[in-house]
Amino acid sequence: MTVKRGWNFLQTPGPTNIPFRVLNAMNRPAVEFLGPDFVDFSKQLFVDLKTVFKTDGDVIIYAANGHGAWEAALTNTLAPGDKVLIPETGRFALSWSYMADKLGIECEILENDWRHAIDPADVEARLGADTGHEIKAVLLVHTDTGTGITSDVAGVRAAMDAAKHPALLLVDTIASLLTTDYRMDEWGVDVTIAAGQKGLMLPPGLGFCGVNAKALAVADANRTPRNYWDWRERMDPNEFYKAFCGTAPEHLMFGLREALDMIAEEGEDAIFARHFRLSRSVHAAIDCWAEGGALENNAVIPEQRSNSVTTIRVDEKYNPMDIREICRERFNTGLGNGMGKIINTSFRIGHMGDLNEPMIFGTIGAVEASLKLCGIPYGAGGVEAAIASLTANG
Ligand SMILES: *Cc1c(COP(=O)(O)O)cnc(C)c1O
Repeated sequence: MTVKRGWNFLQTPGPTNIPFRVLNAMNRPAVEFLGPDFVDFSKQLFVDLKTVFKTDGDVIIYAANGHGAWEAALTNTLAPGDKVLIPETGRFALSWSYMADKLGIECEILENDWRHAIDPADVEARLGADTGHEIKAVLLVHTDTGTGITSDVAGVRAAMDAAKHPALLLVDTIASLLTTDYRMDEWGVDVTIAAGQKGLMLPPGLGFCGVNAKALAVADANRTPRNYWDWRERMDPNEFYKAFCGTAPEHLMFGLREALDMIAEEGEDAIFARHFRLSRSVHAAIDCWAEGGALENNAVIPEQRSNSVTTIRVDEKYNPMDIREICRERFNTGLGNGMGKIINTSFRIGHMGDLNEPMIFGTIGAVEASLKLCGIPYGAGGVEAAIASLTANG
């Protein structure tokens, strides 16, 4: 194996770069997790998370990855035999549906082409036709990390309201929280699912559910057997031990504290603007490479391109794994793989979390050099295009 020197560029769409401040905050001995100091510390975290989710509801923390938070959302609000509608944003919508299916939930996929955002009108039409209100929930992925496309959550809520449909709205913000504007209460979201290792800049291992009063009432009446995921258990005000159903993931929570402080220092609007700027510079580089005829941005409509991750389609004559392998082995740069039905015809560049301009220039340079080494035709000048975009976008 070749020795790799210099910085590793982790440009995967999760996990993302962990700032040293977060790592250092975790570099400490364990503490008594039911002692008063840690209990107070935890209670403040639960409060501060509401600001990030933009909700007056409750936020639950699981020692789990995003899949755990997915399962929590499903088992609390739905029962075997219930029907749900899942707009097909891409691979993550399908993965969530496979999980729901295993839990006995009947899934209807609202088909879409993986190259465009969900059309809220399609949701309205389908819910309007469900006059018996058999559909109990809409499961929406805000930014589908497989396709690099962000859908309009407020638009889907408006469509549900226009159809006068009572289904719950469950939104997966795992790849969008803190990269993209998101407003749980204002947009009428009943359950928000998130995880720590993307925009929140944490090591993997924390999952979150933001829960409003309507979802809590549904959970309360829901007879699905559950224990570890049960929101009611975790919200028992008299027994803090139950808040984590056992030992609290202390060190991840120390990291979370530091991340939330960093987020407050930068300001959410500045964070969203930074992600917008950096993502648009990546898109500009891809549009430049596309002139060679072998590559293109998977997201057809520029406004639907995500702030978090970009999926690049590669002509099927070429193997995107080769690009990733050269980036990894020669340039110490980690990229994302293709997913689902575009597994062999795409790769992804993640650009979320603790990231700045030179990291983007380095990444684009590494990818462009890999394209050259792979013999894939491309329009030269990706870094120049990125610089032009960055200066144009302030
Ligand atoms: C990463 C991701 C997941 C899965 O999260 P894990 O922590 O890997 O379980 C789910 N949904 C979206 C949109 C994601 O980006």
